[in-house]
Amino acid sequence: MKEKIHPNYQKVLVTCACGESFESGSIKKQLRVELCSKCHPFFTGKQKFVDAGGRVDRFKRKYGLADK
Ligand SMILES: [Zn+2]
Repeated sequence: MKEKIHPNYQKVLVTCACGESFESGSIKKQLRVELCSKCHPFFTGKQKFVDAGGRVDRFKRKYGLADK
């Protein structure tokens, strides 16, 4: 058997909701995650409200709080 052990395991670009992206390995072609090591409170060591994909902006707009 000369086949690779994980023939479908390949490098993928993981895109985080915070905008960070990094390469990882997965059988999927693309990955989207909510948190990564750059923005996860566990790694940053502090609570942090992550403005994921403009959630804050949408929230502000919804309640008319958008700063201008
Ligand atoms: Zn992130």
